Amino acid sequence: MLEVKQLKKYFNTPKGILHAVDDVNFSIEKGKTLGIVGESGCGKSTTGRAILRLLEATDGEVIFEGKNILDYSKKEIRDLRRDMQIIFQDPFASLNPRKTVSEIIGEPLRLHKIIKDKGEREKRVLELMETVGLSERLVNTYPHELDGGRRQRIGIARALALNPKFILCDEPVSALDVSIQAQILNLLKTLQKDLGLTYIFITHDLSVVNYFSDEIAVMYLGKVVEKAPSAELFDNPKHPYTKALLSAIPIPSIGKKKERIIIKGEITSPINPKPGCRFAPRCEYAKDVCFKEQPILKELDNNHEVACHI
Ligand code: SF4
Ligand code: MG
Repeated sequence: MLEVKQLKKYFNTPKGILHAVDDVNFSIEKGKTLGIVGESGCGKSTTGRAILRLLEATDGEVIFEGKNILDYSKKEIRDLRRDMQIIFQDPFASLNPRKTVSEIIGEPLRLHKIIKDKGEREKRVLELMETVGLSERLVNTYPHELDGGRRQRIGIARALALNPKFILCDEPVSALDVSIQAQILNLLKTLQKDLGLTYIFITHDLSVVNYFSDEIAVMYLGKVVEKAPSAELFDNPKHPYTKALLSAIPIPSIGKKKERIIIKGEITSPINPKPGCRFAPRCEYAKDVCFKEQPILKELDNNHEVACHI
């Protein structure tokens, strides 16, 4: 359904060129989820926003259903919104506080002139509320009257309003209480199954992405350093950075004790990056070549790709 090729997003800053997303490649099949994981500043949200054309990529291609949407005109992007939607991290910041639940969920239908009749629109809003598990009686409330979980359900209903095929979930549960996170994740999973949705799921939390993703891409400083089917990545991580990330989370199902790997050294600046592996200054395995040559993503086996000289 979606193929991202050599995607780049650079920003000019007073100190130089910031390589936020630097040559990112991946593809996603219809009905599947690709998890993108990494620390803040690794470029995962920027990647997502460039794919949706919420910001303009510097270079590359994003092929959606056979067409490069980076070539699309403003009008074509507007139409594309029907197929590609986003769920934001902070459901409070992303919902207009002066609008009721009904107005917020109905807005895409109004803006895209999908349902012009107000009564019909209200009917569809109630349907959408039911789909995401929101009680009808909340239809005329305001976001601030609701808890984080319900606010995120509003965000999800709004994203579903235009019957999209693809949804970018950008840390959709990070701002929620742990007790509510599972409910929202279950809802997103059920919706995916029922509606045949394709997801990119962005998170810094590997335990969330494991539960949720078919495939996982690990990003470090603008680059995908490892990509594999979810179970394979968890059972058999190859990249030193992925290993360190995984060592920090408990995996009860595996039952074996892991030694926590602490990543030493400072995160390098994504501004005017030096040649070589971006993880090299922090990598305990780094050799001379790591400081000279950029490792590229290579397939090992089982669709398992890793960018590392060793
Ligand atoms: Fe470490 Fe070298 Fe591999 Fe980079 S390429 S992760 S520095 S071993
Ligand atoms: Mg982010």
